[in-house]
Amino acid sequence: MPIAPTGGGGRPPRRGRVRDLALAAASAALTVPLVTIPSDAARTAAPRTGFEVSAGARWTGQAEETAFLAGLGRLGDRVSVRRIGTTAQGRPLRLVRIGSRDPDALTVLLVCGQHGDEPAGREACLTTARDLACATDARTRAFLARTEVLVVPTANPDGLAAGTRGNADGVDINRDHLALRTAEARAVAAVLRDHEPDVIEDLHEYAATAPYYDKDLFVLWPRNPNTDDRLHDEARDLAEQRVRPAALDAGFSSGVYGVWTDPATGHPVKQSAGDGQERILRNIAGLKHAVGLLVESRTDALTAAERVDPARVNHRRLTSQLIALQALLRYADERHGSIAAATAASRAAGSADRGPVHLGGADNEAPEPGETLDDPPCGYRLTRKQLARVGDELALHGVTSRPDGDGAYVPLRQPARKLIPLLLDVRAAYHLTNGQPDTAC
Ligand SMILES: [Zn+2]
Repeated sequence: MPIAPTGGGGRPPRRGRVRDLALAAASAALTVPLVTIPSDAARTAAPRTGFEVSAGARWTGQAEETAFLAGLGRLGDRVSVRRIGTTAQGRPLRLVRIGSRDPDALTVLLVCGQHGDEPAGREACLTTARDLACATDARTRAFLARTEVLVVPTANPDGLAAGTRGNADGVDINRDHLALRTAEARAVAAVLRDHEPDVIEDLHEYAATAPYYDKDLFVLWPRNPNTDDRLHDEARDLAEQRVRPAALDAGFSSGVYGVWTDPATGHPVKQSAGDGQERILRNIAGLKHAVGLLVESRTDALTAAERVDPARVNHRRLTSQLIALQALLRYADERHGSIAAATAASRAAGSADRGPVHLGGADNEAPEPGETLDDPPCGYRLTRKQLARVGDELALHGVTSRPDGDGAYVPLRQPARKLIPLLLDVRAAYHLTNGQPDTAC
């Protein structure tokens, strides 16, 4: 995509500035294809999705996905596909891994299709995984040499098969990232623990309510107030300064997820979603030291042409997702160093064991009185019974503990410091068990 000077109505650019822009555009033209269409030669050997085969008339089916991922696995060492879990109905949960195997590489994770009735994000993930794996241009190759891209293309296969938001047991997986009751959320938690992603995108869709809540794309960052400040600002910049301008350039409208606006003034009128609750993946991303991004594409038909041709609607939904996803990859490419520094600092902050922990609130809503632990305990004691009940979940969250009598002691001094009270303090809304706070330190 050529870089164009933005903004109208300002001073005309000086001649030198024009030349600089032209040079920047020319050099960008050499490096731009960070996941666009690979060469025809690469593409003919590459697997195609059911969406592509049907020209957008339908979403990729599950058997097609299995064949597609098997085809990706045959492309060579740049890509691997691994099973990371099994759903209640026996369907595989899979992880596609593309790019660098260097432990110091930046890691980008895409979690797609958590809600089974929101298929466009999944479709964007499948084609992006393939296009990254097949890319031959220098910029994408250089990106993959220092970046690991992980994709969970179908995070809720049972829901996809049934066309439901929840999984086979009716559980909303995107409210289960703290309790980890579902195989689906457990698989994602294990990926977060084992790969420590630096950037996480969670891809969704939504139903519009015109004229207040009807943008082509909504975006949001982690609002949980325990998110490290630097990570929070990186994530908000990614959403506001990267993804939204990219959407605008491509002709899509955008907004902040959950915020209804007055169509006349553009001012917010109410907030219906997008809060700080810690059991949502977008917020867990921040709590687990990643730059998190939620993206939501609009599902309903917008024009007469779309109303008579569902393939047009499907294409628009997928294209808007791809625009956001490519903006995220460009961001990860261009801000590699500052992202890595921010995620490392967030991890390290837990080991310093200082500062408050918030049990409620969001970045746009102060915690209620009593929701902030100004002087948090130094740890929580668990009885043998409590440990038996939640030990597996603590391990999946990457929380470490040590034996204590016939139970365990969970110290706050560790990277998961701000997550621990949310899991073990009786005052936290979604605590797993009532640990005994240790304040004698
Ligand atoms: Zn959703």
